[in-house]
Amino acid sequence: MKITQVVCQILRAGPAEAKTSSCQDLVLVRVRTDTGLEGVGEADSSPEVVKAVVDAPFSHNVACGLRELLLGENPLETERLWQKMYRGSMYFGRTSVTVSAMGAIDMALWDLKGKHFGEPIHRLLGGKRHDQIPAYASILFGQDRSETRDIGQRWVEAGYRAVKFGWEPMGQSEALDIELVRGAREGVGEDATVLVDAGCVWEARTALARARSFADYRIGWLEEPLQQSDVEGYAWLRDRSPVSIAAGEGECGRDAFRPLIDQRALDVYQVDLARNGFTEAAYIKNRVEEIGARLCNHCYTSSINVAAGLHWLSTWRDAFLFEDCVEESPIRSEVTTETIQARDGMLTVPDGPGLGVTVNEDFVRTALVAESGA
Ligand SMILES: [Mg+2]
Repeated sequence: MKITQVVCQILRAGPAEAKTSSCQDLVLVRVRTDTGLEGVGEADSSPEVVKAVVDAPFSHNVACGLRELLLGENPLETERLWQKMYRGSMYFGRTSVTVSAMGAIDMALWDLKGKHFGEPIHRLLGGKRHDQIPAYASILFGQDRSETRDIGQRWVEAGYRAVKFGWEPMGQSEALDIELVRGAREGVGEDATVLVDAGCVWEARTALARARSFADYRIGWLEEPLQQSDVEGYAWLRDRSPVSIAAGEGECGRDAFRPLIDQRALDVYQVDLARNGFTEAAYIKNRVEEIGARLCNHCYTSSINVAAGLHWLSTWRDAFLFEDCVEESPIRSEVTTETIQARDGMLTVPDGPGLGVTVNEDFVRTALVAESGA
C-alpha cells in the first residue's frame, strides 16, 4: 500500500465571531492510497497555516512541505513517517503549527491503519479499558453570574453531570471572576462537577488567590490560569493550590509536554489529538502514567477529533472525564455522518475500523472554501 494523495480541505460554517472557539472552521487532512482506502484527520489551528505546512514544496532537505515527504510511502509505518516529517520540516517546524499539521496527518494514518486491518484504533493502541467515558459539557462563560447560571442549568438538564465554563469574560476583575464561578455552581446545583477554564489570564500569585476563592465553590479543576508557556509558574502554583490544576491543550508534541511532565507542573494533563496525533499522544500518556498524574483529552473541533480522543483516552485506566464541546456549530456536529455527543452524560467509544467515523461529503461540499492535493 502506498500513499497517492494528501488532500487538505478547509471548511467554514459562516463568518467567524470574536470568541475563543475552534469549531468555527476546520482543516481536514485526507490521506489516500493506491488500494482505494482513505484516512482522515484534523488539526486544531489556523486552517490556512496548516494547509501551507502541508502544501509547501521542497526547499531543501530539512525544509519541505509534508505532502512531498509522504507521497509514495507506506502509510502503515506511522512511527517512521513521524520521524521523516519531523526531520524534513525541521527548519520551519519542531513546534507549534507544523507539529499540529503532523498530528492531523498522523491521525489520518492511524485511521487508515485501522481500516486496513479492520480494527478500531483503540485495539491497535493496545486495547480499550472503557466502553463509555463520563463526559463534561464544555462551553464558554456567560457575560455575568446569571447568564452563566442559565448555561450551567441547561447542560445539567441535558444529562451532563459535569460542566466546564471557559474564557471570556474571566480575568477582568476579582469580583466578576468570583461571580462567574458562583453562577456556575448555582446553575449546575450542589451535586454536579464545575470545571473552570480561565483562559490564560493571570500570573501565578493572582491565580493562587483565585484558586483559593474558587475552592469555596468546590470546583473540579482550575484550567489554564497562566500563560501556556509558564512552566515554572504552573509548578509553583500546583504546589500551593487547594484545587487541581489542569493545562496542556495548546501543547504540540512531546517536546512541548516534556517540561510540564518533568517538573510535575500539573495535576491533569490535557492532550488534543488534533495537535499531537496518536504517535505523540502515546508517548505523553506513558510519561503521565509514570508520574502518577491524571490525563484528559482536549477537543473543541469536529467529531473526527472527538472520535480520536475517545479511542486514545479509552486505553487509559483512569478515564475520569472527557471534554464534549457543546457549542452549536455545524463544524462540531455535521462533519461526520455519526453524531458523537454524550447521552445521559456518557460518551460511547467507537468500535468501527480506524476512527469509526464517516465524513459527511454533502456537508463538506457546502462548507468547502479551499482544497489542495486532490
Ligand atoms: Mg481550555
